[in-house]
Amino acid sequence: MTRTVYVNGEYLPETEAKVSIFDRGFLMGDAVYEVTSVLDGKLIDFEGHKNRLERSLKELDMTAPVTMDELLEIHRKLVELNDIDEGGVYLQISRGADDDRAFEYPDPEKVKPTLVLFTQKKNLRNSASADKGYKVISIEEMRWARRDIKTVQLLGASMAKMAAHKVGCDDAWFVEDGYVTEGSSNNAYIVKDGKIITRQLSNKLLAGITRAAVLRFAAEAQMQIEERLFTIEEAQAADEAFSTSATAFVQPIVEIDGAALGDGTPGPVAKRLREIYLEEAMKLAV
Ligand code: PLP
Repeated sequence: MTRTVYVNGEYLPETEAKVSIFDRGFLMGDAVYEVTSVLDGKLIDFEGHKNRLERSLKELDMTAPVTMDELLEIHRKLVELNDIDEGGVYLQISRGADDDRAFEYPDPEKVKPTLVLFTQKKNLRNSASADKGYKVISIEEMRWARRDIKTVQLLGASMAKMAAHKVGCDDAWFVEDGYVTEGSSNNAYIVKDGKIITRQLSNKLLAGITRAAVLRFAAEAQMQIEERLFTIEEAQAADEAFSTSATAFVQPIVEIDGAALGDGTPGPVAKRLREIYLEEAMKLAV
């Protein structure tokens, strides 16, 4: 089925949507994005994604071409037009297309940002990966120093995932100065003696919207949380591990660099957090 997508104020069939070859998203990776999950036709944690988008834009001296209320309406309309019961909405804002290539930002009065949104249909709730658990490899951090901004510069993430697939694994965790920063497209956690351990926020990792929600729900459920650095060796000796992201929610991890965690099956804390997340996130869906 041909999707209806949104480009700069227009709803179009995907085959007719066009962006200039001079668009800075295309030429320089000068664009930010968000992915909001859809469950039962509703947007999960739109508020969180909206807030992070505003921050990413601010960090790059960009302004959204529409208001945040309009953005919500565009999300909703695309979900409806494409009959999305379960899946996601991808949103990208680039600095726009000047009439040539240059490193300097163009005058924002002259060049308007490019806004693109499209939907993806996917089974999210019933996931074979969540039932089975992921095998991850560690990989030396190779991305830029502002990983707190959600930009479309994702080659590092793609390379890390390909490296994992090459050795029969599912995903990769980045390691910098001996400590795990985050997963290729998710935040990383270990569990030891019932305590949930995850790296504290900084420029070195993305402040996951799912991370914030999961930590809040875990605290409400009286679970212990410690935000600190951890190594791959500590992770391999942990009772369990998991990652979080908007589209995978809570994804159990059963093996790190060939070492099985616990009995090699998804752990109880990860499973419980996935259940709590799905239940609580649905209550706030819009
Ligand atoms: N870290 C990175 C590098 C990511 O790409 C993502 C999601 O795409 C996350 C963390 C998780 O963020 P969120 O929970 O907002 O999806």
